Amino acid sequence: MISIVQNGNPVLREKAHAVSKSDIGSKKLASIITDMKRALAAQKDGVAIAAPQIGVPLRIFVVAGEIFKKEQDERTPDDMVFINPTIVKKSKTKKWLEEGCLSVRWKYGEVHRHTKATVRALNLDGTSFEIGASGLLAQIFQHETDHLDGMLFIDTARNVRSLPPEEPAGEQL
Ligand code: ZN
Repeated sequence: MISIVQNGNPVLREKAHAVSKSDIGSKKLASIITDMKRALAAQKDGVAIAAPQIGVPLRIFVVAGEIFKKEQDERTPDDMVFINPTIVKKSKTKKWLEEGCLSVRWKYGEVHRHTKATVRALNLDGTSFEIGASGLLAQIFQHETDHLDGMLFIDTARNVRSLPPEEPAGEQL
C-alpha cells in the first residue's frame, strides 16, 4: 500500500516542479500516476490527491471519478488526471467552506474559497484542456493547486479542530 505523506514532512512544503514535456507519455510518469490513483482508492473518504502527498514533488493532481459521476451513470467514470494545472479563472465570490486533507489527518477547518474556478492542465497524452467547476470540484481545484505550491489548508483555515477517525467528517482532499 502506498502511504500518504503527513503534515510535518518537508515534501508538503516544497513548490512542486512542472512535469517536463519529455516526461509526458513516459513509464516513469505513468507509474507515479498509478501510485497516486492507488493511494487515493485506498482512502475511502478521499476525493482527490496531489503528487506531493505520495512524496513526489511534481505538479500533478488526480480527482476521483466518483466526483464526476452523474445520477444516471451506471459505472463510475475514471479518475481524472491534471498535469501542470493552473487556475485560469476564479469567481469574485468566496465562501468559507469546511475542509479536510488526507495529509492533515483528523483535522478540519473552514477555508475561504472561490465558489467557482477554472483549471487548465495537460492530460496523460499531453493535450491541454480546460474545465470549469463550482461547488466541491472548485474547492478541490484550489486545495490541490495549493498543495503544488507547498500550502496546506491549515495555513489559512479558521475554526481548526480535531475529530476522531471514527466520526464521519466528509470528503478528504
Ligand atoms: Zn490535501
